[in-house]
Amino acid sequence: MYEIKITRFFSAAHFLRDYHGKCEALHGHNWKVEVMVRREDLGEGNMALDFSRLKRLTEDVLKTLDHQNLNALPYFKDQNPSSEAIARYVFQQIEKSLAKEPVTVYRVNAWESRDSCAGYMK
Ligand SMILES: [Zn+2]
Repeated sequence: MYEIKITRFFSAAHFLRDYHGKCEALHGHNWKVEVMVRREDLGEGNMALDFSRLKRLTEDVLKTLDHQNLNALPYFKDQNPSSEAIARYVFQQIEKSLAKEPVTVYRVNAWESRDSCAGYMK
């Protein structure tokens, strides 16, 4: 099994509903997002997937989050935009984009700070 991983970044604001602590107030993060894709056999160019393609797809998804108040976006209207939920959102969007490709989106990590990371995988 082969795996490739790319890293991208976005900045946004959010707050956590029904939470008592610092994160109940509106604040921002510079998220680091890691996307891992797996494939059993190598394809064209002896690659699992072109890094630049995966970066572009990820950028397209992160554009929908960048410099937004995440709580105001439709996806997070009824659920907290936690880093866990952000990781799931990015995972689902990239999975849709790669549905016809012979690769599997394996995991998405969303780092909200240097030492705190949430991941989503199936
Ligand atoms: Zn936060």
